[in-house]
Amino acid sequence: MDRAHNHQIVSKPVGRFAPSPTGPLHFGTLIAALGSYLAARAVGGRWLLRIEDLDAPRVVAGAADTMLCLLEKVGFEWDGEVVYQSERFSRYREILDVLDGEGRTFACSCSRSEILASAPHPGEEGPIYPGTCRNGARGTRKERAIRLRVDDRPIVFHDGVFGEQVQNLESQVGDFVLHRADGMFAYQLAVVVDDIDSGVTQVVRGADLLFSTARQIYLYRCLGQSEPGYLHLPLALGEDGEKISKRHGDRGLVDSENAARMLWGALDFLGQSPPPELRGLAAPELLRWALDHFHPARIPPHNRPVTF
Ligand code: GLU
Repeated sequence: MDRAHNHQIVSKPVGRFAPSPTGPLHFGTLIAALGSYLAARAVGGRWLLRIEDLDAPRVVAGAADTMLCLLEKVGFEWDGEVVYQSERFSRYREILDVLDGEGRTFACSCSRSEILASAPHPGEEGPIYPGTCRNGARGTRKERAIRLRVDDRPIVFHDGVFGEQVQNLESQVGDFVLHRADGMFAYQLAVVVDDIDSGVTQVVRGADLLFSTARQIYLYRCLGQSEPGYLHLPLALGEDGEKISKRHGDRGLVDSENAARMLWGALDFLGQSPPPELRGLAAPELLRWALDHFHPARIPPHNRPVTF
C-alpha cells in the first residue's frame, strides 16, 4: 500500500443479518447469516441483527427466539440490541408521511386483477404497474395502497458478487407499493428505513433480493440518503431448481446437532474452500477459522443446487 492510501481513513463496514421469522433456520438463511457476518467482521466491522416480523400472518410464533438461540450456538455474536420490525411501525408511518408530504406518493385502489388486465408486460415479480392511479385513484376497491412514483432514469449499481446491475424502474417494475391496501407497511420501505436508522453501510443477503435493490436505492435517494454497498449471495437450490426453503422438507434445516456440518457446507457453497479436515471442528471454531480466511472475491455468482 502506498503512503497516500495509508493516510486515507477507511471506515469499517456496518453489516446486518435480517431474517424473517417464518420458520426454523434453513441452509439458505445460514448462508445469508454467514456471508453478512464474514463480510463485516473479517475486516473489523459491526454486524447487526434485525428480525423482519413485519408481515404478522407469516410470522411463526417462537421462530425468532429459536433462530437467535441457534445463531448463538453456532458462534455468531451480534452488536447491540436485536431490532424487531414489529416495534417500528410508527417510524415507518413517519417516513411515509414525509414522502407523502413531498408529493412522491399516491393512493391506488387497483385490485391485482385490474393491474393484471391493464399491465402491458409481465415483470420479473408479476405485472408492471402501469401508472393507472397516478393522477387520482381509479380502481374499484375501497382499500387503497400507497405507491411511490418512480421515474425512467436507470438505476445503476455495483454488486460485490454479481457485478454491474442496471434497472429501469418505470419499465421494469412501475410505481411500487410502500403501504399495502391491507394496512401493512411494505418490505421495501421497512428495510430501507431500518438500514438507514441503524447506520448500515453494507447489505449482504440472498440473490433473490437483487431485483429489489434498485427500488431500495431509489428510496434512499428520495430520502436524501446515500445507499449502502451491496453484495448478493448465490442461492442454494433444491433439486427442483427452486430456492431451498421449507418446501424442501427437513433436509435443509439447521439444528444444534448438524450445525457444524451445515456451516462447513455453507463455507464450501460460498467458495471459501474449507479444508476437509476441518469437518471435525465444532461450529464456533469453524466460524473463527472462516473469519481468518474469508475472501469475498471467491464467492461464485451462480445459484446452484446443493447436496447435503
Ligand atoms: N427478511 C428478508 C429475508 O429473510 C431479508 C431482507 C434483507 O436482507 O434485506 O429474506
